[in-house]
Amino acid sequence: MDRQDCSALVAKWKKRLGLRDWTVELEAVESQLVDRDNGYDGLCELFGNQRRARISIACEQSPANVERIIIHELLHARMYPLEQTVKAAADQLSSPAPAIVQNRYDYEEHTLIEDIVFALMPGTDGGDDLIITDGEGETDGGD
Ligand SMILES: [Zn+2]
Repeated sequence: MDRQDCSALVAKWKKRLGLRDWTVELEAVESQLVDRDNGYDGLCELFGNQRRARISIACEQSPANVERIIIHELLHARMYPLEQTVKAAADQLSSPAPAIVQNRYDYEEHTLIEDIVFALMPGTDGGDDLIITDGEGETDGGD
C-alpha cells in the first residue's frame, strides 16, 4: 500500500472509532525501522491531552494487515481517557501496586483491542503473528 492508501484508512477509522476531533499524523516507515507494538509493524505515540496521535506504520505489507494495525493503534488513542483514569487511581496506591496495575491494564487493553479488531474485520483471523505479552517490554502508549 502506498502512503496515500494508508492515510485514507486512518481517516476512515478515525471517523468510525469516534476520534474525529483527534489529529492523527501518519509516518510510513520501512518494516525494519518501526518499533513494534505487541508484534505488529506499527506503533502509536499518544499526546492525549492535545488529542493528538502519531502512528508509525510499515505500509509495505498486505492491505488487510495495514488496516488491522491502523485500527489497533487508533484504539489505543480511543482508550486514552480510560488508561489515564486507571493510571491516576493506581498512582494512589503504594509501590509496587501501581506498576502491577499498569502491567495488568496494558495486557487487558491489548486483549480488548484485539477482540475489537477481529470483530471489525471479519474474515481476517489475525492473531497468528500477534504476540500478546503481559506488558513487559511494551513500548506503545507513550504520552
Ligand atoms: Zn498495541
